[in-house]
Amino acid sequence: MSCHEILVEAESFAEKGGWKVDQQFVHGMGSPYLLAHGMGKPVPNAKTTVAFPQPGIYHVWVRAKNWVPGDWKAPGRFQLVVDGEVLAPLFGTEPGWNWQDGGVIGVAGAELVVELQDLTGFDGRCDAIFFTTDSDTVPPNTLKEMAPWRDRLLGRPETPPSAGEFDVVVAGGGIAGCAAALAAEKQGLAVALIHDRPFLGGNASQEIRVHTIGIHGKGKAILEGIDTVHWPNGDAAAIPDTEKRHRTMDAAAGVKQFLGWRACSAGTNGDQITSLDAEHIETGKRLRFAAPVFIDCTGDGWIGHWAGAEYRYGRERRDEFDEVWEEHGALWSPERPDSRVMGASVLWNSHETGTPSDFPEVPWAMDVAGDKTATAGEWYWEFSANDRHQIGDAEAIRDHMLRAIYGSFYNAKQQPENANAELLWVAYIAGKRESRRIVGDYIYTQKDMTEQRRFEDTVAEETRAIDVHYQRNLTDHAESKYDFMSEALFMKTGEYHIPFRCLYSKNIENLMMAGRCFSCSHIGLGGPRVMLTLGQMGIATGFAAALCKKHATTPRGVRENHIKELRSLIGYT
Ligand SMILES: Cc1cc2nc3c(=O)[nH]c(=O)nc-3n(C[C@H](O)[C@H](O)[C@H](O)COP(=O)(O)OP(=O)(O)OC[C@H]3O[C@@H](n4cnc5c(N)ncnc54)[C@H](O)[C@@H]3O)c2cc1C
Repeated sequence: MSCHEILVEAESFAEKGGWKVDQQFVHGMGSPYLLAHGMGKPVPNAKTTVAFPQPGIYHVWVRAKNWVPGDWKAPGRFQLVVDGEVLAPLFGTEPGWNWQDGGVIGVAGAELVVELQDLTGFDGRCDAIFFTTDSDTVPPNTLKEMAPWRDRLLGRPETPPSAGEFDVVVAGGGIAGCAAALAAEKQGLAVALIHDRPFLGGNASQEIRVHTIGIHGKGKAILEGIDTVHWPNGDAAAIPDTEKRHRTMDAAAGVKQFLGWRACSAGTNGDQITSLDAEHIETGKRLRFAAPVFIDCTGDGWIGHWAGAEYRYGRERRDEFDEVWEEHGALWSPERPDSRVMGASVLWNSHETGTPSDFPEVPWAMDVAGDKTATAGEWYWEFSANDRHQIGDAEAIRDHMLRAIYGSFYNAKQQPENANAELLWVAYIAGKRESRRIVGDYIYTQKDMTEQRRFEDTVAEETRAIDVHYQRNLTDHAESKYDFMSEALFMKTGEYHIPFRCLYSKNIENLMMAGRCFSCSHIGLGGPRVMLTLGQMGIATGFAAALCKKHATTPRGVRENHIKELRSLIGYT
């Protein structure tokens, strides 16, 4: 008898209820997933109808994770409801991403309604549900085995269909990516903008809520349509600014937006990118994007990584670029290179409701939060550690911050003055500051800023101090017992300039980058890493893409032969 197998990706559920689609960690665990982010209150059920090819007895498997294993009830427990009947097993109770055995169900008709029922509101997570008539089949759990298995069960073709013809493909719709797309479109290019979330703006979006700072430089006309006003980080005023950004992007008819599409691999031929594949974060469908030029605005430098571009991660030794601040010694720059980078933050806040409310005990959060008491978290709620990689350990880093938040809020709720406080908003998309930095023909460093070096290929400018963070637990700071608190060091500089050579890859011919993955040292990132400066970089790459087309050349060719024309498009005389 033939075996029947059905794979239902949780993120593809027709109704998400209160569950959120979380695509941030696909590289680590294999897929977007659904997250029950209820800030301590169980979220409404997610629901979908599953078609079965044949009636029969089906074995049920659920891929889930106990995100804080320990001597307590797992924080993110949930159950499966099948045609109104709650299955007995509790999911989210085994450490790490694992397939949990859900027992067997009898299927009589052609379809069943399946629901995810959250039990805690504390970030339970479900990747997928697998039904099989073969009681011996155990679904694969390694990234290597799962990828072809998913492709087969989801019926994905080996070669994704074409997304269309483009002059340039921009991956990542933060401020840098939006600016790059708008500049290229202004020059008449057909642009694809691939962004893995529904909302544009990266850290400035309503999902993360960081306000844009820096100067507009020569990019005011473009940046004013996508920037923010100066609300407090984490504020709901990010929502109207996100809407403004979307109106601006929607008005750019030459930019085809692929929102909710995550770039997932690059095809190469020698030192050229030939195509990018992207996968939809809910449907799992794939598309292939081809263009002569690509711009990596993913922050994490993903396109460069897949294409084999040289990149850096961590801090340079202080004498490599003579990046020294005697007063701060190794907090600023180390004698030997290390893997320290600025951390990721999860912004959050609460409000006074006027009536007393409880907040559940969170024993699984307390070894992170300790005795910290707080009702909101600003930029300095930040986590970085030398042994935690901002990309490889991204899920653990986000989760560490969630524990810090829930634990600190629980402590606050024990104080009478916070009896009426209730969590209002806790991000679940982490705001990142630093990871891969793709190496270009020039690496931007401290001295470029402090000596205010001028370049004949300057394409962006800034006046903001170099601002590099370290964790408070590295010093004898009053809050050194909390590993999720950071401190900023500000080195004043005056006006500085960024050359175009930092915005294209040294070894991948048709790759440019704008945003925090531009070519710089760890300290070199400290000044220009704010969003308006990065937006200026985006504009430069968008215009450069137009010159690549006009002169049938590469980004390096633009630098060597058409730099005056590029600078003049940007607004330099
Ligand atoms: C808490 C915090 C406070 C800060 N304070 C300020 C401040 O006050 N003002 C300021 O201007 N800057 C501030 N910064 C720094 C600034 O936010 C970042 O340096 C900046 O957002 C980086 O811009 P980016 O466009 O490179 O990346 P992002 O803003 O991260 O945007 C990149 C986008 O690409 C998307 N993406 C990633 N991978 C893929 C993929 N494979 N396919 C498709 N899309 C993808 C991501 O979802 C992301 O939205 C702060 C940062 C943090 C975390």
